[in-house]
Amino acid sequence: MQAADHTSPTSSWQREWRRGQVRARPRTRHKYAIKHQCSYCSKSSDSALPCCPICKSVRYCNKECQKADYAARHKQDCAEFADPPFTTDFLTVPIENQKYPRNPIIGQDHEEGVGVWVSIRTSQNCELQLLANPKRFTKDSKAKLPGDPGITREDLAKYKAHASNLLTLQVLVQNRRKDGEKALVFGAQSRVISYGNTMDELMRGKTSVLVESVTDFKIEQDTYAVIPVARDPWDKKPRLFIKNFNGTELHANDPLPPAVKNADRGIVELAQGEYVILQMQYRVGDGVTIAKDMQALHLLQALTIPVVQPLPESAPEERLAHLLDIEFTREQRQEDADPLGIRVAFDQDVIQEYFRDYVDHGERAYIASHYGPKGLELWEMRVQEMERKGRAKLEELIQAGGNVPGLIAYMRSAGMNDEAFLLENALRDSEQRMLLPS
Ligand SMILES: [Zn+2]
Ligand SMILES: [Zn+2]
Repeated sequence: MQAADHTSPTSSWQREWRRGQVRARPRTRHKYAIKHQCSYCSKSSDSALPCCPICKSVRYCNKECQKADYAARHKQDCAEFADPPFTTDFLTVPIENQKYPRNPIIGQDHEEGVGVWVSIRTSQNCELQLLANPKRFTKDSKAKLPGDPGITREDLAKYKAHASNLLTLQVLVQNRRKDGEKALVFGAQSRVISYGNTMDELMRGKTSVLVESVTDFKIEQDTYAVIPVARDPWDKKPRLFIKNFNGTELHANDPLPPAVKNADRGIVELAQGEYVILQMQYRVGDGVTIAKDMQALHLLQALTIPVVQPLPESAPEERLAHLLDIEFTREQRQEDADPLGIRVAFDQDVIQEYFRDYVDHGERAYIASHYGPKGLELWEMRVQEMERKGRAKLEELIQAGGNVPGLIAYMRSAGMNDEAFLLENALRDSEQRMLLPS
């Protein structure tokens, strides 16, 4: 299947182009280079090259190159799931001037011919994601998320909706079964599992509503927390979307391929060679002690995702419906029960290395090594713009006679850390200016 062509005149990148503000498009250039370069002899071709039909992670100019590579190296790599299929939605190698890949693999495993790769999806400040955007709420007290009946202040507090608490992972599942059987993936039934005896840390700062969704199991003396895909409190759906099916990036309102059995719950049927990329969120953080991606990942040891072999087409409808309804967590409350599904252990060394610049040298150093010089330039422009907005907001508040320290305290308690930080800085600046002789 070819990648969808999104070049309608209204597409956002074309509008950017017209405004003369085109940003570097390293992903697009990388995609071109990879599709046109032989994985064996490294020669480039004008046309896109055919790929290995089993794994889609390598490309060849011709049968000779394919055969030579297969004998020398690829036979083993393909069978051992050495590399995920190539797609720019799952960039596992650094590109251009960047030191780190956009989507580092923090865990990989395979079972009975089905492979799972787990990658992080971070924001530039490495903060966990929010359930609801606070700016929408302050702008309009009747703010709505798509399909919402409406959000109340009570809801926002109950769900800590403004706090950085959602860990966002990208999970790629590929069927490389040699017997040609299909595989059925249950995205919304995936879980992340903590290290032993981290429950107290995980529960700190969470409201009772949030605690309910977490289950646990015991192995010997250790208790492990099992955290499901977060549910959106307003539409009750799992915080999940199918980002890419077999090389085609899926956008909202795009027609779904027939392989997608249930988009809300991330149930996807994979034929041989096919893969899916799911983006899912897990409520690991609390916005205070666990507010950054690395803090959340530090507490987690693995992700599980159920993948089953679907019943034959001739199976009665009810049986198939029953299969789709299987509740994989029921047994997990029992002591000594192993979590079901493919279990992908996280590599803490990879995680630590990925965030090292942020931890050791701060956000600026992290942006430089992860987004390159162009990314750093854009980041600096954005920081200046945010500081300007912070000052404007402060002036507005002072003129309206608002309680600025009170608002900062509210923002902190609601998890609006960036906004609070900017306002605090603007306040400190203005106080310093007043102390200086004019
Ligand atoms: Zn070649
Ligand atoms: Zn292969």
